[in-house]
Amino acid sequence: MSWTPGDRQDLRARLEWLRLMGVDELPPADRRRPRPQDTSHGDGRTVITSPETAIQAGLFGGDEDANRASRPARRGRSAESRSPGWAAARAPEAPDAATALRLIRSEIGDCTRCTLCRGRTQIVFGVGNPNARLMFVGEGPGADEDLKGEPFVGRAGQLLTKIIESMGLARADVYIANVVKCRPPENRTPLPDEIGTCSPFLFQQIQAIRPRVLVCLGTPAVQTVLGTRDSITRLRGTFHVRDGIQVMPTFHPAYLLRNPAAKREVWDDMKKVMAELKAGG
Ligand code: URA
Repeated sequence: MSWTPGDRQDLRARLEWLRLMGVDELPPADRRRPRPQDTSHGDGRTVITSPETAIQAGLFGGDEDANRASRPARRGRSAESRSPGWAAARAPEAPDAATALRLIRSEIGDCTRCTLCRGRTQIVFGVGNPNARLMFVGEGPGADEDLKGEPFVGRAGQLLTKIIESMGLARADVYIANVVKCRPPENRTPLPDEIGTCSPFLFQQIQAIRPRVLVCLGTPAVQTVLGTRDSITRLRGTFHVRDGIQVMPTFHPAYLLRNPAAKREVWDDMKKVMAELKAGG
């Protein structure tokens, strides 16, 4: 594989970002894994083709079938999954995750279940790979998201994209959604009744996708998903298992914009996420 000037520029940008995040070491390449240029299907498709993915060859890789095999199976009701949202959540019967997500979106319809509908331009449902092994959940759409109809596209979203890319992934590899699907006025935190009305759809999305790891960005996301009142500061940095899914709470990118020093902690959390994804094959 030859490296183009664009590849090198991209790699330099990636390393610079990692440095900004406080990263002073990279994981060693796993020599037992196939080298990037050797990882190809019989039909000529190459799975790992870019230098940035090559960097992460020891962390990621594998095809969709392997990913599917490592998808966490739905568990019976256990103590860990007793938070209210999980108890009621069922994805619609569907042949695949993409269809299930379409059914959930159509169930939401032109929603007027809570007053957030009055201020929205459009519903911001979610975006990304329905078969993602990694899913991110934020709080609710802001102004940019409300206009575009896509989560995390404003300044905080651009930072989230950088974090995802620093993990050796693309936005299209993961799935991104919010606790509430309509923009709260003045970007305020969603109210408990708004969360109560909207979050069943989030739980359905999670059940449709069944990611291996679910990253909760900020307090409303983590409190909703874990069914707790604990603060993000207390919860972040360790996995909490819910219905067989590894939930990692971390700081919201908007918080990082205000407190850049906290990027270090977020990067520590994302390293744990990468290790968990790697362990899952
Ligand atoms: N903040 C969020 O929590 N979600 C978005 O989609 C954008 C900003």
